[in-house]
Amino acid sequence: MVSSGWRPPSFNKTVGNAAKKSLHMTGNAIDIMDNKLQTLAYTIKKNASLLKKYGLWMEDPDSTMGKFTNWCHLDNSTTRTDRNIRIFKP
Ligand SMILES: [Zn+2]
Repeated sequence: MVSSGWRPPSFNKTVGNAAKKSLHMTGNAIDIMDNKLQTLAYTIKKNASLLKKYGLWMEDPDSTMGKFTNWCHLDNSTTRTDRNIRIFKP
């Protein structure tokens, strides 16, 4: 389940902890709802080479834990310096 996709700038401002230049505002990021154990995020982390293969970046699971739900943030940023493990801290 996608819990967040494109966010207009006016709405992005209301999202707690959202980055000012969020890739959600340009339609280049999605948040997928994850379970309590963050199974999705850790599965991707274990297979991190797939991120590079598909041109994606994932936010570190430590940073995608919410009060009520966890999520997995994926984006296709082209501005970060490329590296083999494309997991970033905000
Ligand atoms: Zn996100």
